[in-house]
Amino acid sequence: GLGRTFNSMAASLARAEQNRRDFLANVSHELKTPVASIQALAETILDGLAAKPAQQERYLQTIVGESNRINRLIRELLDMAQLEAGELSIVRQKLDIREFWEQEQDKYVSLLAAKALSLEVDIPAGLSPVWADPDRLSQVLSNLLSNAIRYAPEQSTLTLTARSVPQFLSLALTDQGPGIAPADLPHIWERFYRVDSARARDSGGTGLGLSITKKLVETMGGSITVHSVVNEGSTFSFTLPVASE
Ligand code: ADP
Repeated sequence: GLGRTFNSMAASLARAEQNRRDFLANVSHELKTPVASIQALAETILDGLAAKPAQQERYLQTIVGESNRINRLIRELLDMAQLEAGELSIVRQKLDIREFWEQEQDKYVSLLAAKALSLEVDIPAGLSPVWADPDRLSQVLSNLLSNAIRYAPEQSTLTLTARSVPQFLSLALTDQGPGIAPADLPHIWERFYRVDSARARDSGGTGLGLSITKKLVETMGGSITVHSVVNEGSTFSFTLPVASE
């Protein structure tokens, strides 16, 4: 009856309010940590407590790194706000995925080389073009590839595969990283969720990447899934609608 409807509405409002509070607490925490570190290091240098030039340089490098982290977080928060308000402009066009990858691949050369990773790419010729926003697709690939590179062990192999499925093109990225435990899997798409928060933070993660990635893929009309086995690796697959002639 009406009482029941009212109770379930009240419960969902309470949940939304709790989510909003958690979100603000998370954002504050994520910003506070790098700011505290920048402040402490700058003060150490100003107080003349980092006498050696080499030490000063190390501190300054950390300051730059932490500033980059804050920048990334702010950029991701803005993307997220626009996505949630339905205000992120997505300009879709017909794209050939092989050509697209050819333009993108150079971005990853040095990141891959830094960990001696090899990337095997299998994008057959003659696949139907997809209907996608090149900037947003680039962001999706960059989020997934930077995670794969971050979590993969040195000298391992990543594979990027494209396949045609009815009405869609499916892109899959496989790594030989630590994998994700079944209990964590459903949560990795949530904002700020990190399986091992200390390690993910040290490696530069914000915990926002996958939730933005999922929203971007869905806004382009596709979907994203993950298959992962602990100690073996993970495969992130997403689809994009093919462009009808
Ligand atoms: P982050 O910026 O911390 O990487 P993401 O939203 O991109 O945040 O990912 C959320 C969490 O999912 C990560 O902290 C990590 O625990 C897990 N994860 C994502 N990609 C991988 C991967 N390729 N291998 C193992 N774990 C992953």
